[in-house]
Amino acid sequence: MAAMVIDGKEAAAQVLDTVKTATAELIRTTGITPGIAVIIVGEDPASQAYVRSKGRRAEECGFRSVTHRLGADTAQADLLRLVGELNGDDAIHAILVQLPLPGHIDEGEVIQAIAPHKDVDGFSFVNVGKLATGQTDTAFVPCTPAGSMVLLRRALAKTDYSGLNAVVIGRSNIVGKPMANLLLAANATVTIAHSRTRDLPALARSADILVAAVGRPQMVRRDWIKPGACVIDVGINRVPAPELGEGKSRIVGDVAFDECAEIAGAITPVPGGVGLMTVAMLMANTLASACRAAGVSAPRY
Ligand code: NAD
Repeated sequence: MAAMVIDGKEAAAQVLDTVKTATAELIRTTGITPGIAVIIVGEDPASQAYVRSKGRRAEECGFRSVTHRLGADTAQADLLRLVGELNGDDAIHAILVQLPLPGHIDEGEVIQAIAPHKDVDGFSFVNVGKLATGQTDTAFVPCTPAGSMVLLRRALAKTDYSGLNAVVIGRSNIVGKPMANLLLAANATVTIAHSRTRDLPALARSADILVAAVGRPQMVRRDWIKPGACVIDVGINRVPAPELGEGKSRIVGDVAFDECAEIAGAITPVPGGVGLMTVAMLMANTLASACRAAGVSAPRY
């Protein structure tokens, strides 16, 4: 294997350490404790597990963490009322609505009801617009692309990607598009590819920075990689793993790791790469929100 493997575990631990230290300092100097409210509607086991892990991390960081567990039959009006109350609660700096919501609730309306200055997921139109217009200092940037940028900076040991070609495969609102905007803000020359792109392997081979955010197990193959490229694999896909026993499964990315690692200069593993950065950046965004409320500057990662 030639590529440097980008260690998401170590990077996430460093982000969380910085958050912890800065939180203690914020509390000491201003008396303000970052507060995060997580709302979950229904009993989906994967969502319940995500919410538990976010709550645990928040407490480890020294935040005040509140989880609102609502029944699957909660009316949209009641959910919107709760969001409204949290918008007006000065002790809460971050509001997170765990997705997906049950089918009878209009997800878009709920997300847009969150006050932009507490929208640490970065999904509100104000935050999307700020990122798209390059105002990254005051935007909340969605956590997965923000974490991917931290990994990229560690791998390339620089923050300015002038002259580098970046190809982002995937155009979702939560990963592909914000990732492309962040790369553009870092002066990369960016192409967004998607399911309608022609000759994707050839396009991918033009990339000095290749980001895969598709949701197709091991779609990116060895011959898609430009020698020395930096490959960021956002994909999280569960695939059958009969070799581990009957009915077992394992997680793989959108990139065929072993073969691509022979060509790439640096590459993120799955698991152990981008996935770990998402919750870490959520904590970073929550701290940033509290820092803004206190009028002090937040750490950079
Ligand atoms: P999505 O389904 O919303 O978007 C997928 C994108 O891939 C679409 O824009 C689509 O056009 C493109 N696509 C689909 N098939 C394609 C093909 N054959 N060729 C080229 N492009 C194709 O997914 P998403 O929410 O952006 O997530 C993408 C992946 O990232 C998933 O595996 C998801 O689990 C993972 N993810 C990981 C994290 C994390 O914390 N690491 C967070 C969010 C998403």
